[in-house]
Amino acid sequence: TGGRGGWLSVVQCASGAPRVPGVDSSTVVWFRRDLRVDDHPALLAAAERAKNGLALYVLDPRLLSVAGQPRVRFMFRCLRALDAKLGGRLMVVSGDPVDVVPEVARSVGASTVHVSADAGPYGRERDAAVERKVELVRAGSPYAVTPGRVVKPDGTPYRVFTPFSKVWREHGWRKPADTDESTVDWLEPAESEELPDVEPLADFYPEWEKFRDERLPDYDRDRNRPDLDRTSRMSAYLRWGVVHPRTLLAELGDDEGARAYRNELAWRDFYADVLWHHPESARQNLDRKFDAMELDHDRERFEAWCAGKTGYPFVDAGMRQLLAEGWMHNRVRMVVASFLVKDLHLPWWWGARHFMKHLVDGDLASNQHGWQWAAGTGTDAAPYFRVFNPVTQGEKFDPDGEYVRRYVPELRDVKGRAVHKPHDPIVDHAHEREVALARYAAIKS
Ligand code: FAD
Repeated sequence: TGGRGGWLSVVQCASGAPRVPGVDSSTVVWFRRDLRVDDHPALLAAAERAKNGLALYVLDPRLLSVAGQPRVRFMFRCLRALDAKLGGRLMVVSGDPVDVVPEVARSVGASTVHVSADAGPYGRERDAAVERKVELVRAGSPYAVTPGRVVKPDGTPYRVFTPFSKVWREHGWRKPADTDESTVDWLEPAESEELPDVEPLADFYPEWEKFRDERLPDYDRDRNRPDLDRTSRMSAYLRWGVVHPRTLLAELGDDEGARAYRNELAWRDFYADVLWHHPESARQNLDRKFDAMELDHDRERFEAWCAGKTGYPFVDAGMRQLLAEGWMHNRVRMVVASFLVKDLHLPWWWGARHFMKHLVDGDLASNQHGWQWAAGTGTDAAPYFRVFNPVTQGEKFDPDGEYVRRYVPELRDVKGRAVHKPHDPIVDHAHEREVALARYAAIKS
């Protein structure tokens, strides 16, 4: 791996072109959650501003320590693919971005650093600190509509999804930016840390195209069926910005499937917007009334949930899918989350942390607010008294039991929907439901 001394001193110009008057000689493009070259407004802005650009990725130990192996591995695969696109000219440096980014900018004589805006609480603080040392030029964000832009007529943020999504659609989004790897004349970094030897991520587009052509028409009908596996699986690509949501939105028509899909992307923007307005909601109940709720802290039950050993087959299948694949179907995410909160009475943030450790698509806004939705503590929450029944949910959304049999091998010989019957359950759902409702009644009064 490269030492600091090297990259501080030696950066070569790929084209060797002379400096153009009125334009900076060099700039830095700092990649974060935008690991692509297509439809990338920050690349356009960089090319307008400077003759050459250095492509930089900073391995931030603070983020790496919380990300969990599946997501870190996916990130490295994205970085390998990006580096290949850039002809091996991605500079990778470990360290605190607040130190590294201004130093790298100085080393190439750049007075600006180009980025896509980060809307998360940590990213915003980090960028504010970087900005005290070097000019950050933001262009675009990981969202169709940048968080904070959709507001009520009185200027306050929406707390309910449906009116937000209406204004979000009316607001619209700009056309995909016409960029590729040649938009910026990339500088050659003399040194860069080596990326781990993982398989570079394959192009997302064939997968998307197959979904768009074959599955999107029936998406509205099939998206709740984990046994059929008919969702787009774009979440991890979106998480790392390998694809921008605008690219997907531009290809949607106006049939029922497309409308349902657009709505899901609106949820993604909505949760980012909520987190932007309420950064503290990453860690605490958005609805503070729930702070008074009585919670249990039974580690054994939590471990059983994590391992997929609750005795409720649909829940166990989901938790084991998460461990095996770093991904879980949305319907099952809702059911396992409800089970943790309302059947085990555990804090939602325990479950959220476990998800963030294992999900390839782990995203603070969607995850914490998906959890707060299930817990009834968030914005636009499912009413607390609506408690998912893990058995009937399984029977409804996995009607032949195929999903359960796929992930719970000890039940493979049980035929049909009988597979959803609890076997040796750690709690009794009917009883725990009553406990949850009584605790809710106590805080309501
Ligand atoms: P599709 O059905 O194909 O949807 C397309 C895209 O729309 C997704 O890729 C995603 O970007 C967005 N989307 C869909 N549903 C939601 C939703 N409910 N909220 C926000 N965006 C949505 N999604 C994450 O990306 N990261 C997370 O960490 C995450 N944690 C979750 C935790 C819980 C408790 C719950 C209930 C949901 C969570 N979700 C999260 C949302 C959703 O489960 C996933 O986005 C979805 O399962 C990803 O699969 P897909 O790409 O095939 O989805």
